[in-house]
Amino acid sequence: MTDSQKQQRLAALNARVRQDLSYLNYPPANWSKPVTTAAGDDVSDVVVIGGGMCGLVAWHALTRAGIANLRIVDRAPKGFEGPWVTYARMETLRSPKILLGPALGVASLSFRAWFTALHGEAEWEELFRIPRPMWMDYLRWYRDVMDIPVENDTHVTRVVPRPDGLLELEIAGGAKPSIITRKLVMATGRDGLGEPTIPDFVKGMERHKSWAHSADEIDFDRLKGKRVVVIGVGASAVDNAAEALEQGAGEVRLLARRKEMPTVNKLMGIGSYGVTAGFAEISPEWRWRLMDYAAKQQTPAPHNSTLRVSRHPNAHFHFDCGIRSMREEGGEVVITTTGGRIFRTDFVILGTGFSIDPLSRSELAPYQDKIACWDDRYAPPPGEENPGLGRFPWLNGDFSFTEKEPGTAPWLKDIHCFNYGASVSVGKVSGDIPAISEGALWLARGVAASLFIRDVDYHWEALIAYEKPELEGTEWVDADAPTPAQKTA
Ligand SMILES: Cc1cc2nc3c(=O)[nH]c(=O)nc-3n(C[C@H](O)[C@H](O)[C@H](O)COP(=O)(O)OP(=O)(O)OC[C@H]3O[C@@H](n4cnc5c(N)ncnc54)[C@H](O)[C@@H]3O)c2cc1C
Repeated sequence: MTDSQKQQRLAALNARVRQDLSYLNYPPANWSKPVTTAAGDDVSDVVVIGGGMCGLVAWHALTRAGIANLRIVDRAPKGFEGPWVTYARMETLRSPKILLGPALGVASLSFRAWFTALHGEAEWEELFRIPRPMWMDYLRWYRDVMDIPVENDTHVTRVVPRPDGLLELEIAGGAKPSIITRKLVMATGRDGLGEPTIPDFVKGMERHKSWAHSADEIDFDRLKGKRVVVIGVGASAVDNAAEALEQGAGEVRLLARRKEMPTVNKLMGIGSYGVTAGFAEISPEWRWRLMDYAAKQQTPAPHNSTLRVSRHPNAHFHFDCGIRSMREEGGEVVITTTGGRIFRTDFVILGTGFSIDPLSRSELAPYQDKIACWDDRYAPPPGEENPGLGRFPWLNGDFSFTEKEPGTAPWLKDIHCFNYGASVSVGKVSGDIPAISEGALWLARGVAASLFIRDVDYHWEALIAYEKPELEGTEWVDADAPTPAQKTA
């Protein structure tokens, strides 16, 4: 297919999307109560922080719910939101290509519709998994065709509760005015309510010189011919090992604490719409048990990613290698494992993932400790202890935070945690591709309900004031009304 044919087919798809949306009566009229501050400043109904996949689909669902006084901001430059073309280093997504992701029930918005417009059905059949940068291209298209007005280069540094009950968002640098909103959606990503996990053993060593986290920008060119140790064997660890090998690292050793490679993606075994729909409804005991089990079993790296490493003869997997200590010595890093083995290397990459903990989010300072977490509300039975899981926030069904002590931070109910941090409370509906549309619908429903309930007196007044007649009085006859003759008699 030539470039101009592709452009024509894409233009046809764009027209189809617009038609589908108009058939769905999109966007409906705004219905919310207009609000300003006492000083007359504009107030948004909702601000979404994050213009990645979750932020885009949240914006779409909220708009579809008739909430038009809405803003969406992202600190990243346009087209570089999220991990896909920044720190993600896998060749393809793990998710199967058929997932509907952010399409929100609109077939023409699906990845398949976009892909086949550009490449045709035959290539769709041949496609194994979605190449990583292509997913970003799809999200860029989604944003453009939906006309989603993401305000890029806008970093929210603090969310300040105001005495009038509104939330004020401070923007980095102060060059842009702060934003005032009634409700806030934190679509802030995989680490959106946490941070990269940095084990104590690297403390004291210089970041970027001796080590980096897999979510860091890494100069792989500098690792040419060098020895690299990757900590972990999960997806990110394996992807970073592959990247280092492909860029000419002299050797790469992956050190895993566990004795054997995890091989089964346990949660896949029960993946279904039932889990999506029912998870938030089951008891805390069951939610905890499922999440604890899945976390402890660990998700293996995908098959193709693992082969991408092991096809290199200079790649080595080592198990039962928990780290006791690491130190810089004579220009190299010396690693001692809990079993007493010594590894010497030039650079360490931490494939240690992310931890969730509201306390780590400076945007929510200084009241992060007022957010209720699972360890405030639930004590797991023996054998199911999991301090990491305990730091996940204890959320309402609309993703909003709850207070640790009632009455100490009532504004938390207006901050909706639409990121991975929500998964212990409501399931995996606000991060991964499979159920993201479902999560966005719940979010929009919850936000709309909450705005309506808060403003019920305004809607009552509107009901009383509403006078537009449906009938003019000429459409019927009252059979018992006096006739003109009776009236004059
Ligand atoms: C390496 C990697 C690979 C993954 N692969 C898959 C996969 O194959 N399949 C799957 O289903 N899931 C995958 N995931 C999980 C998930 O789909 C992704 O994390 C996805 O990016 C989640 O979308 P998001 O919108 O929540 O977050 P992001 O895409 O990370 O977007 C969050 C945005 O918020 C912005 N932001 C954060 N804080 C602020 C702030 N204070 N002010 C302004 N902007 C802010 C960031 O700049 C970012 O653009 C992967 C995750 C990672 C990290």
